Amino acid sequence: MSAVHRALQTHFGFDKFRSQQQEDAVKAVLKGDRDVFVLMPTGAGKSLCYQLPALLASGITLVISPLIALIQDQVEHLKALNVPARSINSKLPSAERREILADLESESPRLKLLYITPEMVASPSFQPCLNSLCARGLLAYLAVDEAHCVSQWGHDFRPDYLKLGDLRSRLQGVPCVALTATAPKRVQEDIERSLKLRSPLVFATPVFRKNLKYDVIFRDLLPDPYVHLFAFAKEALGGNTAEKGCGIVYCRTRESCEEVAHKLTKLGILAKPYHAGLKAGDRTESQTDWMADKVPVIVATISFGMGVDKANVRFVVHWNLAKSLASYYQESGRAGRDGLPSSCRIYYSPKDRDQLNFLIRKEIARKQEKRGSEKEQDKAPILDFEAMVAFCEQEG
Ligand code: ADP
Ligand code: MG
Repeated sequence: MSAVHRALQTHFGFDKFRSQQQEDAVKAVLKGDRDVFVLMPTGAGKSLCYQLPALLASGITLVISPLIALIQDQVEHLKALNVPARSINSKLPSAERREILADLESESPRLKLLYITPEMVASPSFQPCLNSLCARGLLAYLAVDEAHCVSQWGHDFRPDYLKLGDLRSRLQGVPCVALTATAPKRVQEDIERSLKLRSPLVFATPVFRKNLKYDVIFRDLLPDPYVHLFAFAKEALGGNTAEKGCGIVYCRTRESCEEVAHKLTKLGILAKPYHAGLKAGDRTESQTDWMADKVPVIVATISFGMGVDKANVRFVVHWNLAKSLASYYQESGRAGRDGLPSSCRIYYSPKDRDQLNFLIRKEIARKQEKRGSEKEQDKAPILDFEAMVAFCEQEG
């Protein structure tokens, strides 16, 4: 059994993770090299995504939460599990507060999780403690719970959450975990910007939206895959209706972007490639033409789409497999933002699977070589990919 599973059992008494997303999020946080964004509905078990890593890390995890009542709940729950967690808040008797501060100022504090409101974390009285923790490199993570409170688009905006941007800037090198159940895109963007998340890994519960139809086609069984793709695109774009629609085809390599765009155009649907091998000007032109509905189909590597918010995307095709289900949901989720029926399709091929599998393993080996050791969490990308493959083979 892995260390993570063991900790899940011994500290929290759970046999398994609630969901693949919960497990993936925990592992990503543990890895500690990226900021993490957890988007899951209430009750999905978001807290574990930072609590478990906090226990396994050396140092203290600072947890920001908006309400003293919520904080007290969590701290009581953790204390009952024998997890060293405390909170500093305005209601705390001063003796207790001194005791906590003394622990935090000691050479190796016992505390693992410190819960605090955004008001308190910004208050002058807490600064000496915070500075000393920072200076001694004792902060393992910054966890921001109910992160939608930073957004004025959210339903419970808390001005004090905006101060967390400053806090974040002071905690250079401390990975941040933001958690919320509120998913609208604008809110997500506000969170990423305000908390200064650096290209965070996003873990979201897959929400199959009702207007999206998903399917998987075995590419190798088709007499001419390009003709098949063309027919699909044509149908999805709806022929000659007044409403202009468009589509995205994702490919792994530059060459296949070029190839697919060329074939589609030849068959009768204008398509342009978008990848890092293009001159910046050409790449921008592909994107602006597509955004302006001048070119209906863009054939792109996954670098395309970040921040692209186009309502009338009628289809998203994956000509090559995505690396994980999480990325697949995110990429395919660019379809149908206007709520109209849209299609998401994977053209699956075992040969493609083997290639990507090889690339993923090579990347892991490269990291291990650089580091000089293996880690349990190195396997995460393989497991993520296997889940993606299982989805395709089952669907097919
Ligand atoms: P959220 O913050 O997403 O609303 P919580 O973190 O408060 O959810 O967790 C909701 C409930 O799920 C809690 O009672 C928690 O103990 C439970 N829970 C979390 N992870 C697991 C798991 N892996 N197995 C079983 N129960 C879990
Ligand atoms: Mg919660």
